[in-house]
Amino acid sequence: MRIAELYARPEPTVSFEFFPPKSDEAEAALFRETIPELQRLKPAFCSVTYGAGGSTRDRTLRMVARVRREFGIEAMSHLTCVGSTREQLGDVLDQARELGIENILALRGDPPRGETTFKPTAGGFGHAVELIGFVKARKHFAIGGAFYPEGHIECGDKQLDWDRAAAKVEAGADFLISQLFYDANDFLECADYLRNRRGVKVPIVPGVLPFLSAEQIKRFTSLCGAKLSAELLKRLESLAHDDEAVRQLGVEVCTDLCRRLLDAGAPGIHVYSLNRVPSTRELLTNLGLGK
Ligand SMILES: Cc1cc2nc3c(=O)[nH]c(=O)nc-3n(C[C@H](O)[C@H](O)[C@H](O)COP(=O)(O)OP(=O)(O)OC[C@H]3O[C@@H](n4cnc5c(N)ncnc54)[C@H](O)[C@@H]3O)c2cc1C
Repeated sequence: MRIAELYARPEPTVSFEFFPPKSDEAEAALFRETIPELQRLKPAFCSVTYGAGGSTRDRTLRMVARVRREFGIEAMSHLTCVGSTREQLGDVLDQARELGIENILALRGDPPRGETTFKPTAGGFGHAVELIGFVKARKHFAIGGAFYPEGHIECGDKQLDWDRAAAKVEAGADFLISQLFYDANDFLECADYLRNRRGVKVPIVPGVLPFLSAEQIKRFTSLCGAKLSAELLKRLESLAHDDEAVRQLGVEVCTDLCRRLLDAGAPGIHVYSLNRVPSTRELLTNLGLGK
């Protein structure tokens, strides 16, 4: 099923994101323990990230196909431009189609580890919008694009970056999923701009990350440029050596964030699950979802 259709349902569309583990053993454990637990929360769909430079290509596609086949949950493969020519990206899409995959989150990708700027591969794409057009031309997939409520870290002007999100929809994106953020106002301002100033009509979905440790959330936000309020930083500092307390704080903060966004009409929430169960389960329980 195409994910755009799932967002048309009246109830909030809840999705979980996984990353491909590094080993076959860890993948087996994810499918044996984690995904069955998360399946009980009745996600509308799951998505699987695409590692730097296509390093996880086979595992990403295999995991998406397995989630659909073994759990009957709709699933989406992420795909990035990093390190691939158009021909190679076409091969990945052919492979996805053969596996029955119908949903692609089309991204530029981050620079490979050790590099600070993104350099397009010769014969490949420089921006996600080009990949979106390329996937669209194949007429087989529903397509998601990424957007950044606070503006993308490489773009000094957040409205310009939001215009680029609107361009993704013009190029064929059927829905947009956001980068993590912790201030609901950032999301609401961006969604308002996209809807009312740029005429975007597709679902605009918040991506939320219930963080697991103080060190982790500081690293993630410094990598993507999302801000943490002074108050949240203070609370993180006071709990910094108690990972369980920080995990619970992550659930509390995301619960408040999601309540506000759902009340304001967000079509669902995309949870960065980090391949873990407890925070995702507690978040959905608090929201009265996933029953
Ligand atoms: C929901 C979500 C899932 C993600 N999953 C993955 C994943 O699986 N694997 C992974 O490696 N990364 C993933 N990322 C991270 C993403 O790859 C990075 O944030 C990356 O830096 C930008 O990707 P993009 O698709 O938004 O790129 P783009 O839309 O190409 O934007 C990148 C930069 O280029 C600028 N730009 C865009 N279009 C133009 C243009 N026409 N001219 C000039 N500048 C332009 C933008 O303003 C921005 O600064 C994900 C991000 C999100 C939000």
